[in-house]
Amino acid sequence: MKTKELSYYTNGIEAKNTVILSQSITLVESSKKEHQVLAQQIINHCLPLSGNSIRIGITGVPGVGKSTFIEAFGTFLTGIGKKIAVLAIDPTSQQSRGSILGDKTRMDNLAVNPDAYIRPSASGKTLGGVGQKTHETILLCEAAGYEIILVETVGVGQSETEVFSMTDFFLLLMIAGAGDELQGIKRGIMEMADAILINKAEGDNLIKAKQARREYANALHLFPAKESDWIPHVELCSALQNTGIEEAWNIIESYLVKTKTTGYFEKNRKRQTKDWFYKFLNHQVLTSFYEGNGITEQLKEIEQQVLNGEISPFEASRIVMGN
Ligand code: GDP
Repeated sequence: MKTKELSYYTNGIEAKNTVILSQSITLVESSKKEHQVLAQQIINHCLPLSGNSIRIGITGVPGVGKSTFIEAFGTFLTGIGKKIAVLAIDPTSQQSRGSILGDKTRMDNLAVNPDAYIRPSASGKTLGGVGQKTHETILLCEAAGYEIILVETVGVGQSETEVFSMTDFFLLLMIAGAGDELQGIKRGIMEMADAILINKAEGDNLIKAKQARREYANALHLFPAKESDWIPHVELCSALQNTGIEEAWNIIESYLVKTKTTGYFEKNRKRQTKDWFYKFLNHQVLTSFYEGNGITEQLKEIEQQVLNGEISPFEASRIVMGN
């Protein structure tokens, strides 16, 4: 990709030009050194313009209805005048690029909605992982005027913790009639949720969905209170039939009112920013250490000494660090 000067990207983002926004995100996602340098300049420029959105994480196992929900929810949000961006963290994309959002049949309406911006997932083999890229992509989308950022992830791996650490509100989609094991949802993920939506709650499925709502509500009671003091909601929806969608937004709005009043919202954002700083710093420290002069040879030698039982692993690490 041939790059242009910094002002091309920054002016384009400020002018809400989605083509230039996409080009900038591609730079952010690139692992090429020169792209990275430019990307960081773009991000620095955008930082003061970012932060004014609501960041919502959405997770749930494949097939639960995430993209159908985002299509309905996103369409509702643009209908009440919001500009939304949809991003995805896809832990599987290293093998098959963009498998969450790459499928063109997903989110047909949103894809042509001028108030919605959909960005398929970054693949993750870059410094700092997929999380860093998505985090920085959020900042660019905010600078481009998107007011609600939906970050989707498949609720089966590590990635929901990453999404949790970059969003304000965490939404878990479930379906009735499948046990937790079947749905592959770990207890830890339920614990992170600010709301659980039981999707496909329609027709013959409605009774089962209501039953599931009671069960999940009871289960949530057993978890320790959240630092936000927010009591997670469990509600029903049908993404396909467009029911429970406005109610989902109402829940998020009351969450915002509550956490902005108590100051938790701001505090949580600050903590997330601090955590990201240390995460990146740790990453940089490790990278520059392992890229250091002669370190590979030194490590090989001392590793052999450890394996020969000549020195202990702990002692060896102290020697390498010069302590
Ligand atoms: P994802 O893998 O979590 O993104 O799930 P999808 O949105 O691709 O949905 C998986 C399947 O469930 C598709 O065939 C959808 O049409 C269907 N689906 C999604 N939401 C609903 C719903 O509310 N009711 C019904 N009956 N089917 C749904």
